[in-house]
Amino acid sequence: MNAQQLKARLLDLATTFKNEEAHLTALDRAIGDGDHGVNMLRGFEALKDKLDDQSVESILKSTGMTLMSNIGGASGPLYGFSFVKMAQVAKDEIDHETLVALLTAFTEAIAARGKVSGGEKTMYDVIHRAKDAVENGETVTLKTLQGYAEDTKDLVATKGRAAYFKEDSKGHVDPGAQSSVYILNALIGED
Ligand code: ADP
Ligand code: MG
Repeated sequence: MNAQQLKARLLDLATTFKNEEAHLTALDRAIGDGDHGVNMLRGFEALKDKLDDQSVESILKSTGMTLMSNIGGASGPLYGFSFVKMAQVAKDEIDHETLVALLTAFTEAIAARGKVSGGEKTMYDVIHRAKDAVENGETVTLKTLQGYAEDTKDLVATKGRAAYFKEDSKGHVDPGAQSSVYILNALIGED
């Protein structure tokens, strides 16, 4: 993938999040405050005017800065910081090795910023599994990623607002796990 392809994929996420807004809202209503759909849409709609498309690095960095200042909530700083960290390992052609480096930066950024590890029912559960699968040479499609998000359903949340729901958080897919499916699909791009 080159810079122009990455740009197109990230800008397309505005349409994806428009289509998925109600779905993400419903998920966040069940175990949060119901703002995740509108948060993600606001962040990616702002990208149209803010994306700096000179290079893969500038695309990732400007995406991070835009998400940080437009998404809000817990997820804004998490996704925003992750894109800024991915920009630091960017190369202008995203081959397999670079993709692994990007996903490693994404995983480490969420772990550091969210003070989170696997099994806590967050976006991290999808992100670190996607990184491991790509690193192992597995094919990671939208369906693969959706499977990782579905696996958060039976977990009890221990981070973020969902943690207040304790055992009642069981039975619902984590909203951030669901939004990360679309972001990862744009970066990995098998579909
Ligand atoms: P808020 O919880 O402030 O309303 P959002 O609804 O936009 O923010 O985002 C909620 C999502 O953020 C959760 O579903 C979860 O995936 C993610 N999240 C919250 N706290 C953390 C954390 N400490 N580490 C990783 N992800 C987190
Ligand atoms: Mg919320």
